[in-house]
Formats: sequence, C-alpha cells, structure tokens
Amino acid sequence: MSAKNRDTLGLGLESSCDETSVSVVRNGRDILSNLIYSQIDLHQAYFGVVPEIASRAHLETVNGLVDGALREAGVSFADLGYVAATQRPGLTGSLLIALQSAKAISYAMNIPLIAVNHLEAHLYAPFLEGREPVYPYIGLLVSGGNTALYQVRGVADFTLIGKTVDDAVGEAFDKIAKLLDLGYPGGPVVERMARTAVLKKKLFPKILPEPGGGDYRFSYSGLKTAVIQYWRANPRADRCELVYSFQERALEILVRRVFAASREFGINRIVVAGGVAANARLRELLAGAREEGEEVIIASPVLCTDNAAMVAGIGYRYYRKGLYSPLDIDVSARV
Ligand code: AMP
Ligand code: MG
Repeated sequence: MSAKNRDTLGLGLESSCDETSVSVVRNGRDILSNLIYSQIDLHQAYFGVVPEIASRAHLETVNGLVDGALREAGVSFADLGYVAATQRPGLTGSLLIALQSAKAISYAMNIPLIAVNHLEAHLYAPFLEGREPVYPYIGLLVSGGNTALYQVRGVADFTLIGKTVDDAVGEAFDKIAKLLDLGYPGGPVVERMARTAVLKKKLFPKILPEPGGGDYRFSYSGLKTAVIQYWRANPRADRCELVYSFQERALEILVRRVFAASREFGINRIVVAGGVAANARLRELLAGAREEGEEVIIASPVLCTDNAAMVAGIGYRYYRKGLYSPLDIDVSARV
C-alpha cells in the first residue's frame, strides 16, 4: 500500500451558530478545503443571531458548500474515511442542519459518523497549522457564546475548570458595540477603535475576585453595567477611550485566570481558541504575562472563528480511536 493510500480524508460540517462551513481535512492535519459562509449580513440589523433566520440560511447553503469543499479538495464522496459534524452546543435548529447532512452522507457512503463537541473542536484549531497535538494543556475558549476554561488531558478527555456566570466575553464586546452604535459583530470594531486611544485612562474597576483559590469563574455583566452607566453619565465621552478601557478590563480577567489555572494545575501549555482569540491585544497581553517555560498556543485568526476544518480535525482523532456515533444521535443545545 502506498503512503497516499494510507491517508484518511475526513469531511467536516459546522452549523452551530451563524456560520455554515464544510471542510476536507487529511489525516486530521492538512486542510484541503475549508469553505465558510458567514451569515453576518443577515443578522446585522438585529445586533445578534436570530435562530430562525440562521437555520434557514444553513439549510439553503449546506449542500452547495459540501459540493464546493469536495471540488476544491479534488476528492469525491467515495474518497472519504469518515464524516464529522458539530453536535453540541449551539442553536438547536442550526445544529440540526450539519448533523443531519452528515448522517445522510454517513449512511449513503457507509462511513463512520463522528459527532463533535464544538468547544473541543475550537481547541483543536491550532493543530491544523503544522503542529502536532500535544497534551495536556489548559484550554481557554473565548467566543460569542462561551467563556470557559478547561483542563484537557487528551482526545475526549477534558474537564471544565470554570466558566462565565453571566455573559460570554464575545457577547460583552457585541453588547458594548451595540450600546455605542458601532455595528455587529462588536469584537473587530472595538479592537480597531481601542487601538487609536491616546489617554488610555482606567475608567472601570478591576473585575473581582482575584484569581486563584480554585475560583475560575468569569463574569462580564458588572463590567457591562459600568460601561453603560459611564456612557449615560458622559454622553460626549470619546468612544475610542471608552472601548479601550472596556477591552483592557475584559481581556485582563482572561489572562489572569488562564495563567492562574496553568500555574495551579502545573500544566505549562495553554491553548486559546474561539472568536475573541482573534484579538491582537489579547495575544499581546498573553505574551506579556507568559513566564519562561510557559507556552501559549493560538490559531491564526481565520481558524479562531467557527469553521469546519476544526470539526474534521478533532473528528479524525475520534475516528482513530474508534469513537463513532450512532445514526440516531440527537443535537444538544448545551455542552
Ligand atoms: P465565535 O462565537 O467563536 O464565532 O466568535 C464570534 C465572537 O467573537 C463575537 O462575539 C465577536 O464579537 C467576537 N470577536 C471576533 N473578533 C474579535 C476581536 N478581534 N476581538 C474581540 N472579539 C472578537
Ligand atoms: Mg460564529
């Protein structure tokens, strides 16, 4: 058997929120195609994702993306070794589209179906860029729907250390952007405006409690309220200074928590993933807080947001372990 014949091609499908994506990945490592259709335009007017609109758009797009992803990769259904789809967490009606499509492909082609946890998939993204998956690590997931810290020991072997008790960090960026009339999604525009701040005053208090002592919870509603109150009291305030102060506090708590966990658990490798991980200031703060011997791994911005390559990637690891899913598996809105 030639080396080429030993390759395993996997198809990944993702539709948990507002991106429809289909990807072909070779050996859980090489991205042959990764088509992403973003629905941002459809949801912009509502300053958030409208579930009904999202699932309809996924349904309209998914078949075309499957064809396109196979074509771009230069392969056919018959070449696939497995098919993976996000099964949880996310919007129920949206999740159904990718999972049902994957079930149909699995059934028709008689290949294993791999149901994937979206959060575990996000943390796999950096391993699609030429670096071997390494365990254990502390995983920080920062997105529009989640802010969570994990101890990851291996494939399908991870525990939650802490998560947000209210808003997700990306959601906080989106809400502040909405408050200041900056558009949706908020993250990229807040980051851009914050970069132009000059005074850089600390307008908002530090988010408590201090990390350590086993408390790894996150909270963003207090900071959000502080920003709202400040904006009401100072309607002529410079929005660049305001978002700068907001962003510093919002990111600082992530950095403090992730290093506290890494040091307390004695795991000096950190993986940061999810849409907010695209933020350059977060990358800068993480680099600044890193001590010798500590490693911070972050995927390129394009692989930080929702995509199917990460689904096909972690799917390969499940495939290799024989962790297949039954065809009657249901989606789950929660983790
Ligand atoms: P996801 O939920 O992983 O699809 O990521 C989307 C979330 O990430 C939204 O809440 C965005 O506002 C946020 N986001 C995207 N880019 C950035 C950025 N550069 N800085 C901060 N947040 C961001
Ligand atoms: Mg998204």
